[in-house]
Parts: sequence; C-alpha cells; structure tokens
Amino acid sequence: MKILVANLGSTSLKWRLFDFAHGQEQLLHKGGFERVVDYPKAIGDCLLELKAAGHIASEHDLAAVGFKTIMARNVNGCVRLDESVLQAMEAFNGIAPAHNPPYISGIRFFAQRVPKVPLIGLFETAFYQWAPAPAMRYAVPDAWHDLGVRRWGFHGASHKFVAERSAELLGREDVAERTRQLYLAGCVSPIRQPDLRVISCHLGGSSSITGILNGVAIGTSMGMSPQSGLPQNNRVGDLDSFALPFVVRSTGLTLEAAEKVLCRESGLKALSGGYNDIRDIQKQAARGSAGAQLAVDVFVHQARQWIGSFFLQLNGADALVFTAGIGENDTVVRRAICADLDQLGIVLDEEKNSSVKAREAVISSPDSAVKVLVIPANEELVVAREVKRLLDQWELERAAEAARRTKPARKTKLSGLKSKLTTH
Ligand code: ADP
Repeated sequence: MKILVANLGSTSLKWRLFDFAHGQEQLLHKGGFERVVDYPKAIGDCLLELKAAGHIASEHDLAAVGFKTIMARNVNGCVRLDESVLQAMEAFNGIAPAHNPPYISGIRFFAQRVPKVPLIGLFETAFYQWAPAPAMRYAVPDAWHDLGVRRWGFHGASHKFVAERSAELLGREDVAERTRQLYLAGCVSPIRQPDLRVISCHLGGSSSITGILNGVAIGTSMGMSPQSGLPQNNRVGDLDSFALPFVVRSTGLTLEAAEKVLCRESGLKALSGGYNDIRDIQKQAARGSAGAQLAVDVFVHQARQWIGSFFLQLNGADALVFTAGIGENDTVVRRAICADLDQLGIVLDEEKNSSVKAREAVISSPDSAVKVLVIPANEELVVAREVKRLLDQWELERAAEAARRTKPARKTKLSGLKSKLTTH
C-alpha cells in the first residue's frame, strides 16, 4: 500500500512516499520543489519523479494522498478531504491565514490531478481532542467559544510522534501502543502505573510545547491560532488581546494591516531586526547584535515558562524532549533552556548536548532524574500511518457491508462488528 504525503506551502511542494506492504513501513522517496508558481504542474512533476524512480506506474498505484492539514470548523481527526471539509477549513482561514489557504488550494489541485485517489487529512489539532477542558478554554462568553475562540493546539503530528517514540525509548510499550491507537479508539486503552510524563518541545520555524500524560496531550502552548504561544519565526506568539485594538486606534493602521504585522513581521523577525532563521539570529547575536540576543533570550524564556507550566501540571516529568529544526540542532538554545534546573532533576550532559544534531539521543547526564531526549521530527510518517489506519478501517467497513448484503441471515452479528468501528 503506497501512500504519498504532501506538504503544501504557498510556493512550495514537498512530499514523501511510503510503502506499507507486508506489514513494513518504508520511506520510498522524498522530494520537493521551492518557488513554485504553477502548482498543478508541480504536482504533475512530483508524479513524474515517482514514476521515473520506478515507485509507481501511474497515480492509480497510490492508495491515498495524505496531508498534514491545520484546522477546520467542526472537523477534527483523520478524515477524507471532500468539498465539505475544504469548506470547513475555509471557515477558519481567518485563524490560520498563513496555513489554511495554501492547503485548500493545493488539495483542490490534487483533486483535479488525481481524482480517483482518496485525499485524506490529519488535522494538526487532532492530538488535543482529549486534553482537559480547563487547559483549552479561554475565559470568553460561550458564544465566542462556540465560534472557535478556544485553545486548539497545533503540531499535533509532531507531538504525537514524540509521545509514541519517547514511550518506546523509556520502555513503556503500553503507552506507545495507547498513543498509536489514539485516533481510532480515543484514550481508552489501559496503561500500567506509574504515569509516564513527557514534555515535548517542538522548536522550529514555528514552535510549540505540549504536556503529555500517558501518551495523551494535557495542554499546549499554542492557542486558538498558529500565531500564538512562543514567538514564531515571523509570527507574534502570545500577545495580550488588548494590544491589537490599542495599536489600531493609536496608529490608524487598519485591522488588516495590523494583522499582517502580527502574522509576517513579528516574532523572532521583529525582535532580531529582520532575521527569522535562528542560525542567522545566533550569528548576529555573536557579532554583538542586542536585538538578536534579545530574540534568543525571549524565545528561551518563553520555552522555560511553558516547560515549567507542564512540569507542574504533570507533577514532574520523566522526559523533556526536543524536536524540529531548532530543537534538534541548536545546542545553544537547548543548553539555555535546561540551565540551572538541577533542583527539578533536569541536568544536561554538556558534551552530549554539544555533539548531538539531527539524531535521536539522550543528552541528559546519567544522574538526571528527567531524561532529556532529542527525537528528530517525523510528522509525515505519522500522517502516513493515520491515513493507512483510515484506509484499513474503510476496507473493514466495506467487507462488513458486503457480507451483510450477501448473507442477510448473519445481519445482526455483522452490524454489531460495524458499530465497533468509529469514524472521526
Ligand atoms: P518549520 O517546518 O516550522 O519551518 P523546521 O522544523 O523545519 O520548522 O525548522 C526550521 C527552523 O529550524 C529554521 O528556521 C531554523 O531556525 C532552524 N534550523 C534548521 N536547521 C538548523 C540547524 N542546523 N541549526 C540550527 N537551527 C536550525
């Protein structure tokens, strides 16, 4: 079973092709295009590359195309991306202006180019479906809440991967299995004591920190929109809600213009004087730029604030995990985040921290009560796995339906089987 996972940007198309034949999961191919102006052509070129590499004879060899979709009104989990779901995503364009529109138009292009191939989205909000209500609720009137003004949480695929992988690394297969089953079964499967407490730090172009108890998210730094939480590369992060009307009234900026500033000219870019890549910011800081140093310091401060919050909510932690571009590579940021936490049982091994980049490793010292781990992000694999689970579920439902039609006498038993299969 071959599943293509497409990562859609407004001017980029990246993909990975996975094969799930014979119970294996294999990455067959990865590639991408930057500075795309003709999206349908880019999709066609992607398919040509897959054919040229001998992985598919035609698009009909694709069991599905999976997408790491961001958010949609009243839709969550792993679902088929039909027109109604695309419209539900459109309804939230205003919340995720940098993310939803390119996904929606890209998915429509895929639908035109490969009309027979199911298109399936795993929403980034899906991992937070079981988070406790107080962690996700803002203190706004119900009518606002019902409109969508609530904490949603993002980077769900990344944090789910961390939840699963850290449980495996800590010898808790029961928790890993619970996390694997999450979208199909909910968080119902039993786990043995003691609790497994993980704080997952996805630090990259956009960043979020999630507290995870026994494989299930209990809260996240990201709020209603991907502009919230830690300062993002060029998006603002957390901001007092009264700042926006104050700035609009004081400067005469239109709401739209102010929104653009928050979405494109804020975050690390605003603090550092125009740099939005942490590598450039670190270089500028080393050259004495006070703004660049401030950007790093604000980022580290806020990361510690959220880690501290989850440390409390979880009554401690078994693992603190770093993932994504900054988390996997920036040894200076990791060191600063973990500095002077020995009283909380977090002690970094300086040598290991300095030598680990973009690979899985334990970077805490042996006497650290909390294991500090680096786990390279693998969001596409999570999407592919969930897509496969959904395809398998459809297959089961089809088989049950066919059996029901051909053997009416066994109707009761088979409809019982079908009722056990949940859809999201
Ligand atoms: P996103 O998908 O949100 O863009 P990534 O996980 O790809 O996030 O992270 C990209 C960011 O990670 C870059 O903007 C850069 O700041 C940082 N990054 C990537 N590679 C490195 C590296 N080798 N050293 C330090 N930082 C890095």
